[in-house]
Parts: sequence; C-alpha cells; structure tokens
Amino acid sequence: MAGNRTFTMIKPDATGAGHTGKIIDKIIEAGFSIKAMKWAQLSTSQAQEFYAVHSERPFYGELVEYMTSAPIVAAILEKDNAVEDFRTLIGATKPEEAAEGTIRKMFATSIAANAVHGSDSDDNAKIEGEFHFASTEVTA
Ligand code: UDP
Ligand code: MG
Repeated sequence: MAGNRTFTMIKPDATGAGHTGKIIDKIIEAGFSIKAMKWAQLSTSQAQEFYAVHSERPFYGELVEYMTSAPIVAAILEKDNAVEDFRTLIGATKPEEAAEGTIRKMFATSIAANAVHGSDSDDNAKIEGEFHFASTEVTA
C-alpha cells in the first residue's frame, strides 16, 4: 500500500523569485496537509549529502552550487498516495515536458532550476524528511 507522506523542497530559484507563497497555496489546494515546514539555507555538505545519489552525474557540482545559492523551504506533506500524487502535481523534471497546470510548468526556469523537489518513493520520503527534520519538529 502506498504511504501517505512525502517530502518537498521549494528550491532557490522559486524562493528567490518570490514564488514561495504561491507554491504553498498550490500544494494545499491539491489536498496536501503540512506536517513540518521550515525556511533554511543548505550548506554545501548538506546539499552534497541530500543529492549523493547523483554524485556521479555530470550535473552534480552545478546542482549542489544551485541548491546552496539561496534559501529553500523544506516540508513534510500528508495526503493519501502522497509520493505519486505530489510527483503529478509538480510535473516532469524538464519544465518543457511538464504538463499544463503543474508547479514546474508554472514556475520552473530550467532543468536544474525547476522550482520544487518531490520524493520519488516512500522510502526516500522518509529518509529525506528525517534528513531535514527532528521528530519533535513534525506534527501528528
Ligand atoms: N538535474 C539537473 N540536470 C539534469 C537532471 C537533473 O540539474 O540533467 C537536477 C534537477 O534540479 C532535478 C535534480 O537534479 O530536479 C534531481 O534530478 P532527478 O532526476 O531526481 O529529478 P526529479 O526527481 O527532481 O524530477
Ligand atoms: Mg529525484
């Protein structure tokens, strides 16, 4: 059975462009409830660890640089079928492939600066949520 929580970050391009509130509105309108949320500046080592799965990819260095270029908003979200439904809400990684009405279609500016992160599995949602939040920072 699919889990009911996922993890997201609003990325530096979107926080820097003033889109944070609009993106949070879209998330809530889509039926997700916020279980934890914070505004934070990632350090280089945090960004390297968060994206360690991509460490061999050619874009890794730029991705780490980008993710530390301005603050992010990290959040744990709850909804039935959270991981899959959130990936649908954000749209494809490449903004030109993102469906009409998706968050990336509306706010992404490039494949790297694509406005939001969404976990790709229940296991990663848990790992990523625990990376950013202590259990005392997450509501029931
Ligand atoms: N990324 C990039 N260049 C690429 C592929 C990915 O800069 O060719 C960045 C982009 O910000 C993406 C992140 O790396 O969101 C993680 O990539 P992934 O394939 O996991 O995409 P996502 O799950 O975010 O859609
Ligand atoms: Mg991914």
